[in-house]
Amino acid sequence: MRYQEIINDICHGLYQDPPKGEVASYIPELAKVSPDHFGVAMVTQTGDYFASGDAEQRFSIQSIAKVLSLTLAYQHLDGKLWKRVGVEPSGTPFNSLVQLEREEGIPRNPFINAGAIVVCDVLIGLLKDPVNDLLKFVRSLSGNETINYNPVVAASERSEGYRNLALTNFIRSFGNIHNDLDDVLDLYFNLCSLEMNCQELAETFFFLANDGVTRAGKRILTRSQTKRINAIMLTCGFYDEAGDFAYRVGLPGKSGVGGGIVAIHPEEYVIAVWSPPLNPKGNSARGVAFLEAFTTLTASSIF
Ligand code: GLU
Repeated sequence: MRYQEIINDICHGLYQDPPKGEVASYIPELAKVSPDHFGVAMVTQTGDYFASGDAEQRFSIQSIAKVLSLTLAYQHLDGKLWKRVGVEPSGTPFNSLVQLEREEGIPRNPFINAGAIVVCDVLIGLLKDPVNDLLKFVRSLSGNETINYNPVVAASERSEGYRNLALTNFIRSFGNIHNDLDDVLDLYFNLCSLEMNCQELAETFFFLANDGVTRAGKRILTRSQTKRINAIMLTCGFYDEAGDFAYRVGLPGKSGVGGGIVAIHPEEYVIAVWSPPLNPKGNSARGVAFLEAFTTLTASSIF
């Protein structure tokens, strides 16, 4: 497959004529990022690497990190995790409170904020030093010891984090948060502040394209657990646009409000894209357009 040539061609078109979008501004630090960045990196299961543009510049991966916290909690608890959080698409915005009232504090899935906050609470119950242990886990996925949280972004989000505070209190009122609220939110804001570039993202998520095993040969999840995480990414990974992403791109993936998207073709490749301007549903406008063209031109969706 002529992956590099196809990536270059699509990028060229999307530099000339980028789809419209707005950089996220509700987290003050994110509003400072230039809308012009555009990077792509891809790693195949056999270890070939392809890239274009700002593939080596780090950015705030935001909600993409929710896949990593989920993976760690799932590794420890397996199916018992689903007593605390569901696996259904929510059909509501990522920071919505409405379903929680009807569903008694059990979030629909681990990728909406409510679900990721519950996963953070689970991790606090499992780990000795949650903030550091989670970082160690993330670093172990890619073997990259320089990956880190950005404390300025975490503080910026905390300063405007009224809705996440409300969600945590609300879930607590149903008994589905067991630990100190400040500790839970501290872990959550740190998680969202993780920074990586497209190349590092592709390396980190490699295990999801490789039946649960990292590039260095370390087993993270069983084959069956890996299938399930990919399934949740397919059905819940793109806010209230997961159906449209599956329809247009046809790969499991996860986006973040920093403008990153990582998409997986099980047993084929991982591809990461970064372009900060978001469409009205909160997904990178140029990232989605790139991936739609990529899976079309390479005829390589999961369907
Ligand atoms: N840290 C963000 C928040 O809680 C998550 C943003 C995202 O969905 O990427 O608002």
